[in-house]
Amino acid sequence: MQKQTYRGNTLSASTVVTELAAWENIYMVEVVRSCPEMCRFCLASYLTLPFRTANLESSLIPAINRGLTVTKRLGLLGASVTQHPEFNELLDYLSKPEYDDVRLSLASVRTNTVTVKLAETLTKRDTRSITIAVESGSDRLRKIINKKLDNDEIIQAAINAKAGGLKSLKLYGMVGIPGEESEDLDATVAMMQEIKKAAPGLRLTLGCSTFVPKSHTPFQWFGVNPAAEKRLKFLEKKLRSNGMDFRPESYRWSVIQALISRGDRRLSYLLEKVRHYGDSPGSYRRGFKELRGQLPPIDFYVNQDWELNQVLPWSHLQGPLPETTLKKHLNDSQIWARDKLSQATKN
Ligand code: SF4
Repeated sequence: MQKQTYRGNTLSASTVVTELAAWENIYMVEVVRSCPEMCRFCLASYLTLPFRTANLESSLIPAINRGLTVTKRLGLLGASVTQHPEFNELLDYLSKPEYDDVRLSLASVRTNTVTVKLAETLTKRDTRSITIAVESGSDRLRKIINKKLDNDEIIQAAINAKAGGLKSLKLYGMVGIPGEESEDLDATVAMMQEIKKAAPGLRLTLGCSTFVPKSHTPFQWFGVNPAAEKRLKFLEKKLRSNGMDFRPESYRWSVIQALISRGDRRLSYLLEKVRHYGDSPGSYRRGFKELRGQLPPIDFYVNQDWELNQVLPWSHLQGPLPETTLKKHLNDSQIWARDKLSQATKN
């Protein structure tokens, strides 16, 4: 079954703006779809390729004007909005005096697109904080995942954010990336300390999740690293004791995310049961116990590295890239890995 892809240059915008929405009273405009960066773990990029952009004149500006007749809060949406080829023109447009009372929010932005101008525009439009996804403080680990970013660019982004008047910088990180070692965690702590030194006074937060494998990505064969929970605790201790805010995502919920992400049709029996047991990670474990013998153990779905020749639960769905390309990208990532990753690619 082949995935169908819309290729027009008009993307989505809110059709209902209400205080009851998850983002209350914000009119959302989709600026870009997919992401050309292709970080090896990223579903938002790999599953929705190719990267598409909404046309500024014929699509974005009319949508923004329509939205601003009902609210003064505008959200620019997309996996990497600052990569829109006319993003600067869009910022100029939103800097016009008639938009002075508009409050502008951005999804996370690519680190090396955080300029002083972007920070100033956001500050003028009542935003105090910006979010960048750095994944790790280790340059080696970022090479494994194909994140084309180095620590100097991250530090420069912090300096620019502060110079443009922003009060806080949020960074997204991840632990348990396949190939991660303890030195990589030390590198994350060191990077946060360097940022603090380079942009004193800027409030720093590191939000951190656990690597969860996603279908149709080159890392779909890797399981969740059970050491991730300890690694989150390690970062928490080191960063909080240095006066930085650390916000970990629940490891236990990451396990459930992985279960659903790599689950096959046999899991339907489990989901049926869990429905009655309440909304907690423990409910899933209880369901697994009751279905012992009828399902593979939870570790099979969550923690095991899968063989490259295994039929995957989604093998019958043809995504934007064939499996051979995903395997090639996985193989490319191994150049930067030490021993630990080699097992999966040997098979
Ligand atoms: S830059 Fe962000 S959105 Fe783009 S591929 Fe990487 S993780 Fe995904």
